[in-house]
Amino acid sequence: MKAYRKELWFDVPIRRAFLNITPQVEEALAESGVREGLVLVNAMHITASVFINDDESGLHHDFEVWLERLAPEKPHAQYRHNNGEDNADAHLKRSVMGREVVVAVTNGRLDFGPWEQIFYGEFDGRRRKRVLVKIIGE
Ligand code: ZN
Repeated sequence: MKAYRKELWFDVPIRRAFLNITPQVEEALAESGVREGLVLVNAMHITASVFINDDESGLHHDFEVWLERLAPEKPHAQYRHNNGEDNADAHLKRSVMGREVVVAVTNGRLDFGPWEQIFYGEFDGRRRKRVLVKIIGE
């Protein structure tokens, strides 16, 4: 069995954004040489997510509005966690949107359903953060 590990680094210049990281995951898969197996992709920070959905700008706007309704960033003082910090909303958004995804690898390719793409969800940006890609198989 092969095992391959790679860290993807991001420095989002704004507080919140969704980035399609499918090309970087496909690149890691090609580097791994794995043809049949599994890819795990997880955010290594508790204020960011990795999730799978559609690469459609209207939907990304809808996610932003929905998450702000669930866990509004402001006022910062509404959260107990914001005791010297201001990112309680980012922790909550991360929990809703998830930590990781697992994608099957079949014949050397990510075995997606229709329109599936992998996204990095940043909820407290303006600093360098990592995503782990772990690939196992043969
Ligand atoms: Zn925090």
